[in-house]
Amino acid sequence: MPAGSGPNLVRERIWEVLDHIVDPEIRQLSIRQLGMVQSVSQPTQDTIEIVLRPTFSGCPALDIIRASVRLEVSRALDWPLEAVNVVYAFDQPWNTERISDSGRASLIRSGISPPADQPGERTVCPCCHSSRVVLTSRFGATRCRQQYLCQACRTPFEGIKPLG
Ligand SMILES: [Zn+2]
Repeated sequence: MPAGSGPNLVRERIWEVLDHIVDPEIRQLSIRQLGMVQSVSQPTQDTIEIVLRPTFSGCPALDIIRASVRLEVSRALDWPLEAVNVVYAFDQPWNTERISDSGRASLIRSGISPPADQPGERTVCPCCHSSRVVLTSRFGATRCRQQYLCQACRTPFEGIKPLG
């Protein structure tokens, strides 16, 4: 272990890195904001284990995310690639309720409506915040999005599909 890098500092640095890696399906959010990161641990002095929850099942992005997490973390720590293990917790599926508040705010800034997860919660227009919106298509730019039209300001927009 390099000098001046206690376990807490190492983990802190890793969380920072995870805050800059995006899911190719939702580029507006880091995997940390998405709530994909289940845990970061250091099982031995010179190995790292990062457990991620897989998003949208069968998503081809999972391999890309795993590769970039390993690469970016090993670079940031200046550790060998083999020291960084990334595993997916397939028994603990991700759901859209795990998207953090800062993630939801980033989505709105990007003109994408966050998922309405709670019972009774309505999808709102990211432009005027009206809930007078209609679903126009279940198919958006990526498989995790769908299209809406705001009846208040007439803006078409995309929203993340609720998944729980
Ligand atoms: Zn609107």
